[in-house]
Amino acid sequence: MKKSKQKNLIKIFVVLAMVLYVIFGTDVIGEISLGFSEVSNEVNEAKRSLETSLKQDETLEVYFIDVGQADSILIKTGDDNMLIDAGNNEDGQKLVNYFKNLGIDTFDYVVATHPHEDHIGGMDDVINNFDINNYYMPNKISTTKTFEDVLDALESNNLNYEVPNVGDEFDLGSASLRVIYAGDDTNDDNDSSIIVKMTYGSNTFLFTGDATSNVEKQILNKDIKSDVLKVAHHGSNYSTTDEFLNKVNPKYAVISVGQNNSYNHPSTTTLDKLNKKNVKLYRTDLVGTIIFTSDGNNISVKTEKTNTNG
Ligand SMILES: [Zn+2]
Repeated sequence: MKKSKQKNLIKIFVVLAMVLYVIFGTDVIGEISLGFSEVSNEVNEAKRSLETSLKQDETLEVYFIDVGQADSILIKTGDDNMLIDAGNNEDGQKLVNYFKNLGIDTFDYVVATHPHEDHIGGMDDVINNFDINNYYMPNKISTTKTFEDVLDALESNNLNYEVPNVGDEFDLGSASLRVIYAGDDTNDDNDSSIIVKMTYGSNTFLFTGDATSNVEKQILNKDIKSDVLKVAHHGSNYSTTDEFLNKVNPKYAVISVGQNNSYNHPSTTTLDKLNKKNVKLYRTDLVGTIIFTSDGNNISVKTEKTNTNG
C-alpha cells in the first residue's frame, strides 16, 4: 500500500508538471533564457568597458616642455592631443615646429590657464597653425598686447573660447580630465588659473597653472591626490603650502622654470618641502623637456633637450 501511494503521488506530480508545462512552459523557459541573456549582456558590457577604458598598446604621454621661465604642457594619448599653456611670445614658433615634428595637426583641447605672457605668449602661433576643437580660458580679461593677440587669433580663425566650470569633465582618448578650479579673481591673475586633474587608469596628474596658496586653500578638500604634480607658479614661495602638498601627496613633481631667472624661482622653501616629502623632482631649467609616459599603472620619465625655449 505504501509503495502504491508513493507511485500515485509521483504520477500526480508528473501530470501536474506536464499541465503546468503545457500552460506556462514556453513562457517560463523564455523568461529563464531572457534572464540568462541579460546577465551575459551585462558581463559582456563590463568586459567591453574594461577593454575600452584603456586601449591595448595605448599609452599616455605628458610633455613638460622647456620654454624657459614659462609653462607649456603637451598631453598625447592615441590620436588625441591637448595643450596646457604655450610659453612666452618668443617660444611660439618653436613650439609650432616641435608639435608639427611630433605629427600633430589638431588639438582636441587647449587650455590657457591664465592671461599672463609666460602662459599665453605663444598661443596666437598655436591658434594660427593648428585645428583646435575646444579652447578654454578663465573668465579673466587682460589689456596686454599678448592677450589681445590671442583674442585676434581666435577671431580670425573663427574659434570661440569657452570658460570652463568647476566640476566639468572631458575625455582625451582614454584619459579623463576634471576641472578642479577656474577662477575669475579680480586682483591676482595667477589666482584665475584653471586647475585640471587628469586620470589615466590608476595614474593621476595635477596641473595647477600659477595658482597661489590662496587657491590651494580653496581646493584642499577636493579630490586632488595625484601621482604627478605640476608645481604651481614656477616653484615660487607663493604656492605649494605644506597642507596642499600633503593632500596631493605626489610621487613626482615638475617645476617649469627658466635658468637664472630674475625671480629666483624656484624658492628654496618649496624645494625643501618637496625634498622633505621625498618627492622625485624634475626641473626644466636643469634637464630640459620632461616626458612622463603612463600605461595606466606605471609611470616612466625621460628628459631631453629640445629647441623650444625662445
Ligand atoms: Zn607663470
